[in-house]
Amino acid sequence: MQTRGFGWTGVPVPVIGQGTWKMEGDSPVEALAALQAGLDAGMTHVDTAELYGGGRVESLVARAIAGRRESVFLVSKVMPNHASRSGTVKACEASLQRLGTDHLDCYLLHWPGPHPLEETLAAFEQLVEEGKIRSWGVSNFDVDDLEEALQIAGPGRIACNQVLYHLRSRDIEDRVVPWCVKHDVVVVGYSPFGSGDFPQPQSKGGKVLGDVARAHGVTPHQLALAFLVRDPHVLAIPKSAKVARVRENAGAAGLKLGRDEVARLEEAFPLRRGRALSTL
Ligand code: NAP
Repeated sequence: MQTRGFGWTGVPVPVIGQGTWKMEGDSPVEALAALQAGLDAGMTHVDTAELYGGGRVESLVARAIAGRRESVFLVSKVMPNHASRSGTVKACEASLQRLGTDHLDCYLLHWPGPHPLEETLAAFEQLVEEGKIRSWGVSNFDVDDLEEALQIAGPGRIACNQVLYHLRSRDIEDRVVPWCVKHDVVVVGYSPFGSGDFPQPQSKGGKVLGDVARAHGVTPHQLALAFLVRDPHVLAIPKSAKVARVRENAGAAGLKLGRDEVARLEEAFPLRRGRALSTL
């Protein structure tokens, strides 16, 4: 599996990882098998959150990574309403317990919330000092939020910004990705398939996607992933609770798209400039 450095940490992380949102609604047996098949295929970046299933998804992830923790790049998130100085530490400790591990590779603020960012970031730094997290990052941060975080934390502290990124929502390419590149913050694109709203094969964009995928000998989902990670500063974290789909998604990691192919997709799914960051 192709890897990229995780922002300033430089830790190599697979370009295609695994999301876990709503996995509490999947068959636990299937979801567990899918997560493990993903790890076997090199999708060792596992993204979860205390929010998902009210902690049930973290408990499922614990079962998937049991016995192989050291090969996993494990990320979880604190809910904004828990993100006070003491609340963040408490939330992290509860996540660690559910995940059956003594540390996270990265811990994120799920989205900007009601607590002063100074408090959340101070808690993150405390957790780093205590060895409970190796790095921290943010999620759903637009450029003004990122600037605020940089002012508080200083350079070389924000490891990642996890943001919405799929064919029909390329907004981050306008301002967020360039800001992150400048400050050595890796961009983790979430909902790469539009969170279940993938372009229909008969839609205008879906036809282009299908054509290019066929010409390349890959599936439309693989092509979409390859397009999203064409920028070397971007990673993707698709979610699937099906073994066959997880393997299909892993297969996108090594795909190289030609300039013409990229141009066709960029035209079929145009970038809308000057918009505020979209979120789910
Ligand atoms: P997604 O990955 O865009 O799409 C998931 C959907 O696509 C599921 O319905 C899945 O169904 C299906 N799917 C997966 N692979 C497929 C394939 N090869 N062919 C056909 N269908 C396929 O959606 P997401 O879960 O919203 O986003 C991914 C991850 O990003 C989340 O799980 C979460 O970890 C993270 N996320 C973060 C935030 C945030 O605020 N930071 C927000 C949203 C998501 P099956 O499972 O049945 O295969």
